[in-house]
Amino acid sequence: MTALAPRPATASRLAPNYAPLPITLAMGEGAWVTDDEGRRYLDLLAGYSALNFGHRHPALVAAAHAQLDRLTLTSRAFDHDLLEPFAAALAGLVGPLVAGDEALVLPMNTGAEAVETAIKAVRKWGYQIKGVPADRATIVVADGNFHGRTTTIVSFSDDADAREGFGPFTPGFRSVPFGDADALRAAIDPTTVAVLLEPIQGEHGVIVPPEGYLAAVRAACDEAGVLLVADEIQSGLGRTGHVLACEAWGVRPDLVTLGKALGGGILPVSAVVGRADVLGVLTAGTHGSTFGGNALACAVGIAVVGLLSTGDVQAAARERGTELGAALDAMVAEGLLTGYRRAGLWAGLDVPHGTGRAACEAMLREGALAKDTHGRTLRLAPPLTITPEDLAEALARTTRALRTL
Ligand code: PLP
Repeated sequence: MTALAPRPATASRLAPNYAPLPITLAMGEGAWVTDDEGRRYLDLLAGYSALNFGHRHPALVAAAHAQLDRLTLTSRAFDHDLLEPFAAALAGLVGPLVAGDEALVLPMNTGAEAVETAIKAVRKWGYQIKGVPADRATIVVADGNFHGRTTTIVSFSDDADAREGFGPFTPGFRSVPFGDADALRAAIDPTTVAVLLEPIQGEHGVIVPPEGYLAAVRAACDEAGVLLVADEIQSGLGRTGHVLACEAWGVRPDLVTLGKALGGGILPVSAVVGRADVLGVLTAGTHGSTFGGNALACAVGIAVVGLLSTGDVQAAARERGTELGAALDAMVAEGLLTGYRRAGLWAGLDVPHGTGRAACEAMLREGALAKDTHGRTLRLAPPLTITPEDLAEALARTTRALRTL
């Protein structure tokens, strides 16, 4: 494959808040995408896991098409006939994996909105139910977190690029090292209403916590009467071989935030799922979204739940994940990687020299698309529906690319 010329920056009318690889995509199907000049690539980013089911999965496209011909949006001023079915389907899938008996669902659109919703819910629960003095609630988070881009969310980020120039910041967050349950326990005090964590930190480089960490966090929350909020926007909905990454450690959060794959790669759909006594504090008029729970989103969301309800997608993620792990072991043995972390079909790879960005550019030349997370780390997160043959081809391309660095 020949080197690709960068796009002329001067011609762009886009604000410069992204630095994409020099490629313009025009078509996608399954694990493959085609650029505007007809070149084909294997997609190993899958829209940061929004495309867990691949590009244009037939069941999801069919659900969207059918709904487009019927009803797309009512706003929450009026219910529509898929709103309760969507909530019931998602509660059926995720409810047994969260604490409490009868999980509720609060639909939003983007991941950041789901996180903001969870923050509002746990604060209000803290004041109304736990009895924290007004405006004193604290939430414990983890260093290296990524929960989105709103001003409140970047307030508790330790990524300089995400924060600098965006203050003043929202108070009420304490950050502790990820993976250190003692530090987390020490940060909890009577004002603490919740711990908010990604069970596996995706944007930080697919950082998998030590064995026993999440269970220790759950125990610390239970002892102190603090809620556990798991942000599974990237880790959830099949990526790790489970509906929730938390399942692998047998931990049930009080609230879980979902997004990305919930919209099937078609439109933004997010939700908070969890304890009725917590989400129940968000009474009429206190929170909402014009598009949250719209009919088109619910149609696609129901189809997504349908795909996950058989367990086949999760099983494929585990099987392809094992194949991915074997290939990554070989790359480490050859000295192409200094190490990697993997959960299901999701891995953070550390390259020995250069940058993760340079590695992704080399992969692009070989016909495989990936994205660096930061520094020398890149992430592989192919569609969970990728065939064994295509995964083997993708990993052969990755190996060839890393050899050129
Ligand atoms: N939470 C996690 C764990 C994420 O990985 C992301 C996005 O990468 C978000 C929240 C934000 O989602 P969105 O970009 O849809 O706002």
